Amino acid sequence: MILSMIKKNKLLVLVVLVYAGIFIFAPETALKSVNNSMYYLLEMIQVLPIIFLLTVLIDAWIPKEWIIDKLGDKSGFMGNVFSILLGSLSAGPIYAAFPLSKMLLKKGASITNIVIILSAWAVIKVPMLLNEMKFLSIEFMAIRWVLTVVAILIMGYLMGLFVKKKDLPEDTKEEASLSVNTDYCNGCGICIKIAPEHFEMVDGKANVKTQEIHKENRMKVKTTIEKCPVNAIGME
Ligand code: SF4
Repeated sequence: MILSMIKKNKLLVLVVLVYAGIFIFAPETALKSVNNSMYYLLEMIQVLPIIFLLTVLIDAWIPKEWIIDKLGDKSGFMGNVFSILLGSLSAGPIYAAFPLSKMLLKKGASITNIVIILSAWAVIKVPMLLNEMKFLSIEFMAIRWVLTVVAILIMGYLMGLFVKKKDLPEDTKEEASLSVNTDYCNGCGICIKIAPEHFEMVDGKANVKTQEIHKENRMKVKTTIEKCPVNAIGME
C-alpha cells in the first residue's frame, strides 16, 4: 500500500527527500526555498480555481464550431489576430494559460493559434505593456511590441508546420472508482493474474493498487470484475 503510494507520487517523494537533504546540510537555504515555494503555492491556490472554472464555462458554453471557425486551421490571419488579442487581454501567470489552451486545442483551435495565445499571454499582456510604457517610454514599448508580435507569428507558423495534433499526447488515463470488498474476497488471486497493474495481494486479500486506468487496461479490469468468483470487485 505505502509502496504503491510512493510509486504513484514519485516526484513529490523526490521533492520531499531533496528538501530533507537541504534542511540537514544548508538549513538557511532550505528555509528560503520553503518561503519561495509557499509564495508560489499561495499564488496558484488563488489563480487556478478561477482558471479551471473559466475553462469549464468556456468548454460548456462556447460551441466547438465557433472555436473551429475563429481559431481553427482555416481561421487564417483573423484567427491569428484573435489569438493575439486573447493572449494579450488575459490576466494571471503563464501556467494559468495551459488548461485553457488544452481545452481550446481539444475543441478545434489550431496549433499555430495556441502557440500565439501562449506567447502573447507570456510576453505582451496589456498590463505589462502599460508598465513598460511608464518606465521605459512609449517608443520602447511600441517597437518591442511590433518586433515581438512578428516573432510570435513566425514561431506560431513554424510550430504549426512542424508539430501536428497527432504528435501531442492524448489523455490515455482515466480515473475510476475501483474497489474490492474484502469481506467477500477469498484471495483466489484471479484479479492479480489478469490485471497486476491494478491489484495486489495484501494479507491474503486483493487490494486496489491504483485508480488510474490506462485506456488499454480498461478491458482487463472489466474482465476481473466478470471473473471474480465472489463478485467482490466494483467499478464506477
Ligand atoms: S478475483 Fe475476487 S476473490 Fe479472487 S482475489 Fe480478486 S477480488 Fe478476491
